[in-house]
Amino acid sequence: MSNDSCIFCRIVSGDIATDFIIEDDDVVAFKDVTPKAPTHVLVVPKRHIADWNELAQSAPELAGPMVQGVARVASTLGLPYYRVVANTGEKAGQSVFHAHLHVMGGRPMLWPPG
Ligand code: 5GP
Ligand code: ZN
Repeated sequence: MSNDSCIFCRIVSGDIATDFIIEDDDVVAFKDVTPKAPTHVLVVPKRHIADWNELAQSAPELAGPMVQGVARVASTLGLPYYRVVANTGEKAGQSVFHAHLHVMGGRPMLWPPG
């Protein structure tokens, strides 16, 4: 399933040309357009799923490929340490309602986040 009004579906389909850092049958990864760290990559399932809750309920089989996608991004980009984030819901900072993981690195990360 894909959604013409969804920006990540349009990136996945190639409608918006984007360089993929990694790609397999289930996921792609590409640079965030507004990076919040020197390295900021999004790991995105090819299938349209609104958020992490929907992924858990309707497509838990995609959790493994997404986690493997994160590790492949870290290895491909040579990140020795990094942070993985899944904003879930508007008040948690989610702005694109197609599930994704943020992979951020290249600088020390503070804790707790804001
Ligand atoms: P969220 O706020 O949903 O957790 O993360 C969505 C992320 O997608 C944001 O960090 C935002 O900068 C990024 N983003 C939004 N539109 C685009 C786009 O068209 N291309 C890319 N590469 N990233 C985008
Ligand atoms: Zn989508």
